[in-house]
Amino acid sequence: MSRHRPSGRPSGAGGPWPSAGYTKASPFATLLIGNRLLSLPGSQKEVRRFAFDTRGGELAYEAGDALGVWPANGSELVAEWLAVTGLDPDKSVSVPDAGEIPLGEALRTRLDIARITPDLLKFVAERTGDRDLKRLLRPDNKGELAKWSWARQAVDVVGAFPVRASAAEWVGVLKRLQPRLYSISSSPLAHPGEVRLTVSVVRYTNDLDRERKGVCSTYLADCADDGPVPVFVQRSPHFRPPADPATPMIMVGPGTGVAPFIGFLEDRRARGHTGPNWLFFGEQREATDFYYREELEAFRSSGHLDRLDLAFSRDQRNKVYVQDRMREHGPRLWQWLQDGAHFYVCGDAARMAKDVDLTLREIVAAQGGLDDDAAAAYVKQLAADRRYVRDVY
Ligand code: NAP
Repeated sequence: MSRHRPSGRPSGAGGPWPSAGYTKASPFATLLIGNRLLSLPGSQKEVRRFAFDTRGGELAYEAGDALGVWPANGSELVAEWLAVTGLDPDKSVSVPDAGEIPLGEALRTRLDIARITPDLLKFVAERTGDRDLKRLLRPDNKGELAKWSWARQAVDVVGAFPVRASAAEWVGVLKRLQPRLYSISSSPLAHPGEVRLTVSVVRYTNDLDRERKGVCSTYLADCADDGPVPVFVQRSPHFRPPADPATPMIMVGPGTGVAPFIGFLEDRRARGHTGPNWLFFGEQREATDFYYREELEAFRSSGHLDRLDLAFSRDQRNKVYVQDRMREHGPRLWQWLQDGAHFYVCGDAARMAKDVDLTLREIVAAQGGLDDDAAAAYVKQLAADRRYVRDVY
C-alpha cells in the first residue's frame, strides 16, 4: 500500500553520515538481514520487522525518516498474468528506462500488474466491448465499481474479461511499478549497520476464491532474501524526536503506527536525552498483537519510557482505543503539553488520526477551560510550532 508523504530529495542534512545521494531513481542495492514475525500465532494479522544492511551507515537515515522499497511482483502473479493474456514471457518488449527486455522480466520488475487503474479498465472495456464493464465505468456507477474492484487485482479484471492484445500494447497500458514507503522503525545511533521497518503483510482470499497479496509486503516477507533489494531514504525533516534533550514527548501509535516511535525511543536513549517519554499503543489483542512487548517493557522498567498506555480493542466486549486512554489521562496529558511536550501521531489516517485529533481538542478544551474555538486555535498553534506532528497514511 502506498504511503502519502511530503516529497523531497534526501539531503543528508543533520545526519551523522554524509548522504551518499541514493534516491528513488538511483536506489541503494542492499540485503535483507532480518525478517522477524512480531504478531503471534492466532493473530488476525501478520506483522513483521524487516532489517536491511546499511553497510555501516553508507545508507544514511535518521529516526523518523521513511524507507522507499522497490518491490518485484511475485512469480505466481506473473505466471497468472501470462496465462490470462496468453503472452510469451521471452518476447522482447521496450520499457521506458529499461530498454528492450523480455516480457517476463518486465512483468516481474517493471510493470504494475496488481493495481486496477482507470486506463486498464478503459482498455479492457474498449477491446472487449463488454456491456457490463462499460456500465460499471459510467460516472454515476463509481460506488458499484469500487465495490466490484474491492479485494480484486488487475489480473482478476483480465481474467473476468479476456482480452487479446500484443505484449507492446499491454506495456503501453500498464503503469510502472512504484516503490512503497515505510516508516523507519530504528535509530542509526542504536543500530549503526541496520535500518528496520515494521510492516503489516497483506494476504487475503477474494470473492473469486483467488489468493491475493500486497505486492511489496509479501515481496519483503517471502522473496526479498533472494538477492539485493533496491531501497532509498525519504527524509521527513519535521518528523523527529524533540531536538531539546529535556522536552517531553507524547507518541500515539496504534497498530503499525508504533513503527517510528521505536526509533524515536532508541534515538533519545542513544543521545542520553532525559526528557519524559509517553507512548499510547493499541492493537486487537494483547496476547497476539503486542508488538515490541519486550523492548517496550524494558524501556518502561529502565524509566526511559515514563508512561506506556495500552488499548487492546478486542480483549473485552466494548472497543477500547488509544483515544480512550488519552481521555482517561486528560489532566496529565494537558500538564505535559503545558510543560512543552511534542505530540506525535502515526498510523491510520482515515479514522484513527481524525479521532485522536478530536480527542486532543476535547482534552485541551476541558483541561484548559477553553471553548471549542480557543481549543482549536491552541491545537493549530501546536501544529504551527511543529509540536504536533503526524505521519499518517
Ligand atoms: P489498524 O487497523 O489501524 O488497527 C490498530 C488498532 O487500532 C486496532 O486495535 C484497531 O481496533 C484500532 N482502531 C480501529 N479504529 C480506530 C479508531 N477510529 N481510532 C483508534 N483506534 C482504532 O492497524 P494496522 O494493522 O497497523 O493497519 C494497517 C493498515 O491498514 C494501515 O495502513 C491502516 O491505515 C490501514 N487501515 C485502514 C483502514 C481504513 O478504513 N482506512 C482500516 C484499517 C486499517 P479494531 O480493529 O478492533 O477496531
